Amino acid sequence: MPNLPKIEPDYLTEFLVDLLNIPSPTGYTEEAIAFVEKELSAYPQLELSRTRKGALVAVWEGAKSDSPRALTAHVDTLGAMVKEIKTIGETKRSKGRLSITRIGGLLLPAVETEGCWVHTGRGEQIRGSLLVNTASAHVHGAKAYETRRDEDGMEIRLDARVSSLQDVLDLGIRVGDFVSFDPRVELTNGFIRSRFLDDKACVAAIATAIKSLADSGNAPAQTTYFHISNYEEVGHGASAGIPADVHELVTVDMAAVGNGQESDEFHATLCVKDSGGPYHHGLSNKLRELADQYEIPYKVDIYPYYGSDGEAFWRAGGDVAVALIGPGVDASHNYERTHTEALVATTNWILAYLLS
Ligand SMILES: [Zn+2]
Repeated sequence: MPNLPKIEPDYLTEFLVDLLNIPSPTGYTEEAIAFVEKELSAYPQLELSRTRKGALVAVWEGAKSDSPRALTAHVDTLGAMVKEIKTIGETKRSKGRLSITRIGGLLLPAVETEGCWVHTGRGEQIRGSLLVNTASAHVHGAKAYETRRDEDGMEIRLDARVSSLQDVLDLGIRVGDFVSFDPRVELTNGFIRSRFLDDKACVAAIATAIKSLADSGNAPAQTTYFHISNYEEVGHGASAGIPADVHELVTVDMAAVGNGQESDEFHATLCVKDSGGPYHHGLSNKLRELADQYEIPYKVDIYPYYGSDGEAFWRAGGDVAVALIGPGVDASHNYERTHTEALVATTNWILAYLLS
């Protein structure tokens, strides 16, 4: 088996935990992009730029440039925005509470009682939590079970003394302010349990692969663009920012783990088909051969409810071969979990591809 440059799993984990703890719902990704930019600025081999849309692009000149490549992963996550500052509700209590509109496929039952921040226009953060409208068991009895966990049935309770519209406005909160939910990162026995491993786990894998390649004095076989996307969760992240001369685009995003799925938390997965149809057969096969060659633990799978930034680029007219790889993530868009083994496998796969 040929050798790959060594990767540093500790760097991967630290990068990931730091990134997970930066709130970045789609549309509010500046700080997360800036974090990745700062990390990648350590490598003079990379030329960094931002797209007008706010994505980060790093290009690394390869040994050859006749068939440039791109890899993409996204820092934006699920979240919400303030939809309404409640002035009247079913109960007096509703005054000063906030209703929300979801960003991306946020599963509201999964964030019930979660701590959150409201990011105000003047740059402050107001603390609160998301609750069902009928939260008190001693007031609502069985109604607490019956209330739907949807946008109408849930509200943000601010940790501030507010009981009127004016009180909330005085905090600087307005309709349209971004809301981020606590990731609740926990590391146990090699497992990483956190919200938003989708897709910060893969951004960490790409950054770790770059570090390993640079530290070992290597360079990619072909000129490579690393596209750190900021609008993936709403479907159009990588529709811009991938240069037209790119021949191959490898999307690095989480693999769907659950009933009926091949993927698990200890392998990387090659996805050959999702809701957007089949990926590029030739590029998928090339990745499969690399994984075999370097003995990277991987699965091949199909994701039933899934779309990727690679497909966003295809839909935008991108004329490239697109493939999708990523670590198995349990309970996606919920309280997610993966294992270091899947992250290491994904990082090695990226490295093998870069050197191929
Ligand atoms: Zn994703």
